[in-house]
Amino acid sequence: MPEPTLTPAETAAIRERVVGLMPAVLDDLRALTRIPSVSLGSFDQARVEESAEVTARLLRAEGLEVEIVREDGGRPAVIGRSEGPAGAPRVLLYAHHDVQPPGDAAEWDSHPFEPTERDGRLYGRGAADDKAGIMAHVAALRAHAGDLPVGVTVFVEGEEEVGSDSLATVLERHGDRLDADVIVLADAMNWEVGTPALTTTLRGLVRADITVSTLDHGVHSGMFGGPLPDALTALCRLLATLHDAAGDVAVAGLDHAEAADLDYDEARLRAESGALEGTALIGSGSILSRLWTRPALSVIGLDAPAVEAASNTLVPSARARVSMRLAPTQDPGRAFEALREHLLSRAPWGASVEVTLSDEGPGFAAATDGAAHDEARAAFADAWGAAPVEIGCGGSIPFVAAFAERFPEAAILVTGVEDPDTRAHGANESLHLGEFERVCVAEALLLARLGRLPTGPRGSD
Ligand SMILES: [Zn+2]
Repeated sequence: MPEPTLTPAETAAIRERVVGLMPAVLDDLRALTRIPSVSLGSFDQARVEESAEVTARLLRAEGLEVEIVREDGGRPAVIGRSEGPAGAPRVLLYAHHDVQPPGDAAEWDSHPFEPTERDGRLYGRGAADDKAGIMAHVAALRAHAGDLPVGVTVFVEGEEEVGSDSLATVLERHGDRLDADVIVLADAMNWEVGTPALTTTLRGLVRADITVSTLDHGVHSGMFGGPLPDALTALCRLLATLHDAAGDVAVAGLDHAEAADLDYDEARLRAESGALEGTALIGSGSILSRLWTRPALSVIGLDAPAVEAASNTLVPSARARVSMRLAPTQDPGRAFEALREHLLSRAPWGASVEVTLSDEGPGFAAATDGAAHDEARAAFADAWGAAPVEIGCGGSIPFVAAFAERFPEAAILVTGVEDPDTRAHGANESLHLGEFERVCVAEALLLARLGRLPTGPRGSD
């Protein structure tokens, strides 16, 4: 057995310190949550400026050198830096200070921007996503006040909820100040209350438009229907080739991977998704593999005459948009080529088929075998008294891919403040306060552990 990085007494002392800090941390979280910093353009952007200012103040109070940056006309991002002991690793802590719109106020049991505690949860828009992420970082800094064990950079984005459009430019222009050995992105989920999680895979994405044409103009379906195919029927036949009879994606050459073996059954999937009784599950492999690591393909839009306006005409041309989710390590460009090849070689009835790329994004698969991940697992286990599980996410998180691409050498830890009842983006968003305390303890322990690493934090040098 190697020496533990932190002794049990040191661990207990840090935990005690964080627990003592929690009342003030929660006060600051409530103050942040009262700011309706909705980054969607139709909302008052002065409030996004205000949440950036308040975030900057919180970081300055911890002795960080802070700057608010904006690029490409984007929302304000807060960057704070503190030097650690010489030779210690540098850790970047990410969160975002913007929030989703509150939605219909009538669906909330308390005002979305007046944080309210009920049954051990703090309700409010942003109380979890992701102002709790900001405060977890601040709590970890406070736990080590005046004696940070590592170099710390805090990066708090202001436009995550509207797609992080200027993030690539921010990373490009300020990358030298954001570079780190370990990156902690506190904007994901834990597996369930009492079980912490590291999100280690995300799926990639390809969106493509498929245009099918059979005639150069619409003609009377009574006069010409019979020998001539209409484009909409041809498009439907083409779309039908994208899955096999079992419902697996039929495009050849796509990568497949297996998800971790966690307990997630059909009943839970049905309850969480609202699947109608009788709707069968499609595809093969474990449910979590189908959600997290295997390709999936859905038709998400169709350009064709609306039923209301339908006339007896052979539709000359029709268009569909498909969204394809990819195995975490799949190259999106190759996946698009495979999809294109599949569609062009199956053009029904000699129809003209055109396939164009509308959007793509890489997935993410963390290398979880380094020292930083070992220390994170140990910190989580100490904070929760339960070993963390490794989970995937079927969606794509643009900022994770952006950081992974910009800092390929860094160990990336995707951690969470949310639990399955958080309802981020929905009405009655809430934070489980017991879990939040454990999140803060875990992050304070993680910084201490990373500061003790004898060699490079990736354990490779
Ligand atoms: Zn978020």
